[in-house]
Amino acid sequence: MKIIMLGAPGAGKGTQAKKIADNYGIPHISTGDIFRANIKNGTELGRKAKEYMDQGLLVPDELVVDLVVDRVQKDDCAKGYVLDGFPRTIPQAEALDAALTTLGTAVDYAIDVDVPDENIVRRMSGRRACVSCGATYHIEHIPPVQEGICDRCGSTLILRDDDKPETVTRRLEVYHAQTQPLIDYYSGKGILRAVDGTKDMEAVFHEITSILGA
Ligand code: ADP
Ligand code: ADP
Ligand code: ZN
Repeated sequence: MKIIMLGAPGAGKGTQAKKIADNYGIPHISTGDIFRANIKNGTELGRKAKEYMDQGLLVPDELVVDLVVDRVQKDDCAKGYVLDGFPRTIPQAEALDAALTTLGTAVDYAIDVDVPDENIVRRMSGRRACVSCGATYHIEHIPPVQEGICDRCGSTLILRDDDKPETVTRRLEVYHAQTQPLIDYYSGKGILRAVDGTKDMEAVFHEITSILGA
């Protein structure tokens, strides 16, 4: 099963993508996590990506497309995968489709996690992310067992630099201008499914499993 997660920054794509990955036994591929790992490891890609990420802008398509197209051809993707944070522009979506067509396959579902803008800033300011494993929490809605500590790996939780309100506003503008058109793109292909992302985490996941099947 090949799944794409769509939705505004902070809509809950990552949260749901991790649950889908666990439930269906397929890898969760987050381009944001890949960039953050590269930044942490001081790679050339990380250095380039950071310039854009810090400003709330998208990293240029040419820095992300090949990376994802290579990743989805790894052995662990044979049964499918859930893409989180990619594609984010029409050219990225077209490049993915072209690559998958060459491989004789296609995306099965694009799941749009729908959350209005007014909920987003609050969600993002409460988001805490693990410095080691990328797990995310919310200080009110999805708190860790012990404040400031990751349930999964025991590392420290932080507020991401780009989750500060001024950058979130920019990211939302970028989302509407560059990413939201993908809703029509996948709708036109007949594979778009929308879920109400304002519900609680388990209720959203329930909507998703009823789309994907058990
Ligand atoms: P969120 O889901 O909270 O918006 P992500 O972790 O998916 O955040 O992405 C963080 C940042 O990484 C984005 O704001 C953008 O700068 C960059 N990024 C991630 N994926 C892509 C992509 N597919 N294309 C361009 N930039 C990306
Ligand atoms: P995205 O990957 O779309 O940027 P995340 O999955 O990181 O979004 O979620 C953004 C924030 O909202 C996190 O703090 C997360 O714990 C929280 N969150 C995710 N889903 C829900 C939900 N259904 N209700 C309330 N908070 C949520
Ligand atoms: Zn962790």
